[in-house]
Amino acid sequence: MYSNLIKEIENKPVQLVAVSKTRTNEAIMSLYHQGQRIFGENRVKDMEQKYEDLPKDIKWHFIGHLQSKKVKYIASFVEMIHSVDSIKLLEEINKQAQKHDRTIKVLLQFKIAREESKYGLQINDIIHYLNTNEYEQLSHIEIVGVMGMATFTHDKNQIRNEFKQLKNIFENLKSNSFQSKDSFKEISMGMSGDYHIAIEEGSTILRIGSLLFQ
Ligand SMILES: *Cc1c(COP(=O)(O)O)cnc(C)c1O
Repeated sequence: MYSNLIKEIENKPVQLVAVSKTRTNEAIMSLYHQGQRIFGENRVKDMEQKYEDLPKDIKWHFIGHLQSKKVKYIASFVEMIHSVDSIKLLEEINKQAQKHDRTIKVLLQFKIAREESKYGLQINDIIHYLNTNEYEQLSHIEIVGVMGMATFTHDKNQIRNEFKQLKNIFENLKSNSFQSKDSFKEISMGMSGDYHIAIEEGSTILRIGSLLFQ
């Protein structure tokens, strides 16, 4: 339930993205009326529709795999894109943000799970890219951190180890590529089933859906 979760995390340095994918406007508004303003969607069409229908002070976070050719549909309003899993996508987000004269916050997604289905960047590729002129010229994105999803398993040790991996990647990038950037500070990890572990391992953004909408 929403209010229980909010009580649980109110003294912790984490933000909550309420994952509203597949939920009705009515269900979303029920959380809105309890104070929630950050919502997460994983499909472009659904996010566009909800942006149209719902209050304009909602901050929309995109959390699913995003095809480059679809960035243009959300670039005018999306607050943060959690799921940057290729350099091509990063460059396209910059291009579309520029058209709207805005800066879009992004997280670099890494594959920490053992599942084949999950997307993510390779750490060496991105460190290399962050040293290039191409990257220097991306003036309409701000890379504010990293994102990852743990394997869907009951093995808590495995989940904890995967979150530790993501935290290590964050620290690595922080000291290699973002030393002077205070805005590089977010670790987006933790869902309904594993958010306790994620908080213990240093999450700063929880992405929680099913638990909130029960
Ligand atoms: C659906 C989803 C979530 C939320 O999952 P729940 O188990 O419903 O809390 C978090 N992150 C991503 C990327 C998702 O697709």
